[in-house]
Amino acid sequence: MADHDHDDDHQHDHDHHHHHGEGHASELSEMQIRVRALETILAQKGYVDPAALDEIVETYEKRIGPHIGAKLVARAWVDEDFKKELLKDVAIASERIGLTEIGSHVIALENKPSVHHVVVCTLCSCYPWAVLGLPPTWYKSYAYRSRVVKEPRKVLADFGTTLPDTTEIRVWDSTAETRFIVIPQRPVGTEGWSEERLASIVSRDAMVGVTVLQPVIQEA
Ligand code: FE
Repeated sequence: MADHDHDDDHQHDHDHHHHHGEGHASELSEMQIRVRALETILAQKGYVDPAALDEIVETYEKRIGPHIGAKLVARAWVDEDFKKELLKDVAIASERIGLTEIGSHVIALENKPSVHHVVVCTLCSCYPWAVLGLPPTWYKSYAYRSRVVKEPRKVLADFGTTLPDTTEIRVWDSTAETRFIVIPQRPVGTEGWSEERLASIVSRDAMVGVTVLQPVIQEA
């Protein structure tokens, strides 16, 4: 696996608040109440424009999310040149298909029968939010962060993923500067599918590398 380079003086960017975005359900609802109350007061006093707040929330909920990553993966599956470019530089490749807000921190890793990539942030919860949105709770859990490095096969099994012994598993440790998106193997049974249809089956967990995409069985 890659060396972990979380230096002590290393600045994690917390602008997206992914370390505090999710929690216990009761905490969350209390948080929502507090946020709503604060929002109301600020809006009443004329400090903030509710429409602008809605826009920010919508950005995180809809415009930024795993559908961005899925679009990249689907294109990579159907266009070998695009895939090469994506593996070389995610930001430049993304710009070519009109995704201009990816930034330069994301690296693409291609899963193959010989090698399976899985991503973690052992120190905290660095995550490629520009392509996958907000991280799932399990990604931030101590259990995942500590175990996936030591026993990746067992952790993958917990996610229902069993790989052949001949498949090498590589665990990649994220940092604020370097984040990863996994290009899963294209499932059999998807030959001839449109890019849009392909994108619809690319899951977030497969792009983190904890699951593989199952073969698609066509109904007769
Ligand atoms: Fe982190």
